[in-house]
Parts: sequence; C-alpha cells; structure tokens
Amino acid sequence: MFVEWLKEQLVRAQRLSSVGTLASSVAHEFNNILTTILNYAKMAQKPSATEATKTQALDRIVQASQRAAALVSGMLGMARPGTQKRQMIELGTLVDEVLLLAGKDLSKHRVRVEKKISPVSAPVVAAQIEQVLLNLVINARQAMPEGGTIRIETRENSALGIAEIIVADSGCGIGTEALSQIFEPFFTTKTPDSDGRGGNGLGLSVCRQIIDAHQGRIRVESAPGRGAIFTLKLPLREETPARAA
Ligand code: ADP
Repeated sequence: MFVEWLKEQLVRAQRLSSVGTLASSVAHEFNNILTTILNYAKMAQKPSATEATKTQALDRIVQASQRAAALVSGMLGMARPGTQKRQMIELGTLVDEVLLLAGKDLSKHRVRVEKKISPVSAPVVAAQIEQVLLNLVINARQAMPEGGTIRIETRENSALGIAEIIVADSGCGIGTEALSQIFEPFFTTKTPDSDGRGGNGLGLSVCRQIIDAHQGRIRVESAPGRGAIFTLKLPLREETPARAA
C-alpha cells in the first residue's frame, strides 16, 4: 500500500516538475522573441532609418512572430490531446494527406518518398495523427540537407492488436546522448538557419503527447550517419490499450 502511494506521489512530482520546467522555458523563449520584436520595431521607428533598414526590420519582426506562433501552436497541441473524439480511419489516407501537404517542400529538397501502405484502420483523431506524421516528415527532411529517401509504411500487427506507422529516413541519424532527450520539450539541435528559424524542440514532445493520448507508443531507432526510424504503435480498438512494449 505504502509503496503504491509513494509511486503515485513520485509520478505526480515528476509531472509537476516537468510542467514547471515547461512554463519557465516557454516564458524564457517568449521573452527572447519579444526582445527581438521590440528592438527591430524601435530600429524601424528611428527618423534616420532608411527604407532598406525598415524592410529588414519588418522581415525580422515577421520571422520572430512566426516563431512565437509556432510556439503557441506547439503548446496548444500539448494541451489538447485526449479531449477530442476518435473515429475509425484508414491510416493510409492520413499518410496521403500529409504527403500532399509536404510534397512540394520534399521535392524542392530532393527528398524521395517510398510508400508502402497495407490497409489498416484505427480509432484516431485524424488531425492529431496528421500533425504527428507531419512533424516526423519535416524532421526527416531536415535531417537530409543533401536530399535522400523517406520511407513511410503502415501495417497491422493483429497478434498484438496494434496498427503501426513507420517513418524512416536516410539522414544524419541521432547519437546516443541526444536519443535519450529528443522527446523532451525544448530539446533541439537545430540552430537558426539562413531564414533565421531554428527548431523550438516541441515537435517530438507534441508527437509523444498525442500518441500517449491515443494509448499508443512512439519508438525510435537511430545511430549517427544511419538515418532514423520512428515507429508509431496505435491500438486497433479504443477499449484495448496497446500491449506493445
Ligand atoms: P525541433 O525539430 O524543433 O528541433 P523536435 O522535438 O521535432 O524539435 O526534434 C528534437 C531533436 O531531435 C531535433 O533537434 C533533432 O536533433 C532530433 N531529430 C528528430 N528527428 C530526427 C531525424 N529524423 N533525424 C535526426 N535527428 C532527428
């Protein structure tokens, strides 16, 4: 009894501490963004500012606002999972939807897609699973700056009562140390690129929240230089929790 109670307290304490970490990281990140916006706005307001300076300042303000918007949508994604009703959806249709959205960006970056869809339906909130797939596809594309291949597979594992969606890439891969942290909120190795936009480290943590809310599992296998394989395991029926380890 006492041990059970202790375990419960530990889980609660861990949850509270991660909420605390999250809140202070968000506040910090927002503060940085606001400072950027204020500084560039002041620069543009100066009577001596040339047209070129004003244009550049406005570009930076737009970029910073987009970063703030991405942060908010990431946070909302974390808050919402679990509250919407699920429907039986053929998972291949979600893959198609995501590839339609990401297709142009993928071909622009010379990324080829190999699709292997076996018919399988699962009870999901379609928009949320699409968000997960989109995050995984974007990460895969970013891991292959010189182009490469993304393999997306769906299949049923009836013995375990689960549907699996696999998103694999031939990119840079992930080292052991990073591998233990990639699902943590705000963990990112992406530095601001030429557009001034780096990662915010929320993509995979949102993926995990969403998959947890579906009583599923998200797994990753990767090694430096060997690409990454993300596997989503979703229960085939709502009342049956995924038994996959
Ligand atoms: P972000 O993309 O904003 O950095 P994520 O939570 O989506 O945040 O990813 C966290 C980190 O995990 C990334 O910065 C990157 O280091 C690593 N990562 C995620 N997906 C891949 C992938 N397919 N290949 C290599 N590294 C990846």
